Amino acid sequence: MRWIRYQHNNEPPRYGWLENDGTEIGIVHGAPFGERQREEPSIPLETVRLLPPTTPSKIICVGRNYAAHAAEHNAPVPEIPLIFLKPPSALIGPGDAIILPPQSQQVEHEAELAVVIGKRGRWISPEAATDYILGYTIANDVTARDLQRRDGQWTRGKGFDTFCPVGPWIDTNFDPADALVTCRVNGDTRQMGSTREMIFRIPQLIAFISSIMTLEPGDLILTGTPSGVSPLHDGDVVEVEIDRLGTLTNPVKAETPK
Ligand code: ZN
Repeated sequence: MRWIRYQHNNEPPRYGWLENDGTEIGIVHGAPFGERQREEPSIPLETVRLLPPTTPSKIICVGRNYAAHAAEHNAPVPEIPLIFLKPPSALIGPGDAIILPPQSQQVEHEAELAVVIGKRGRWISPEAATDYILGYTIANDVTARDLQRRDGQWTRGKGFDTFCPVGPWIDTNFDPADALVTCRVNGDTRQMGSTREMIFRIPQLIAFISSIMTLEPGDLILTGTPSGVSPLHDGDVVEVEIDRLGTLTNPVKAETPK
């Protein structure tokens, strides 16, 4: 099953659900994380605007979780997970524009599988980790590479508005063990790698992160990117596809300084 967040006409955003590969949305009263009621599918998917499928309290990202991506930056593979945060203000949904800020000359895509947390937890064991997962979605960890390199901290390079496209849905049946993660820019394949190449597996990541901070329902964990990151330019269209999960598509636009 798939959870979405959407806006229909000018009504307030709400949650909906879809059968896998379904084309009609069922209205959800409440939220996927708690008390809720589902109506039968009735609204054609193409008539709504899809929003980021969750409103996380935080977005935790894992750096260099694929050896080939670490190697393309001449960076060592970490011995423990290397984590950082993106602000929720960076979230955009499918079809929304990634805005290239004037402060950077090198904004790059990073195609990633994202985990959506389903219930609150701290000190979660790797064995219990799957009980805390609501499902999976697709993310693009957009990065101002020049600023990331210049700053010791990654908040600026990773944190601009629009630098976290997520969606189109949360899939509750997806198996993350061995799925191909692909990124295309204007139809050209730039990144392709399997989730089986991850250095730290998802249960280990959840155990590690929850030993530091409480995970809340709706929180997102971006699990790292395969090799092949490359610059984005005004007018590009970037697609992140994950096998059996879907495709997240966003146009790219330059921002003119105010
Ligand atoms: Zn990343």
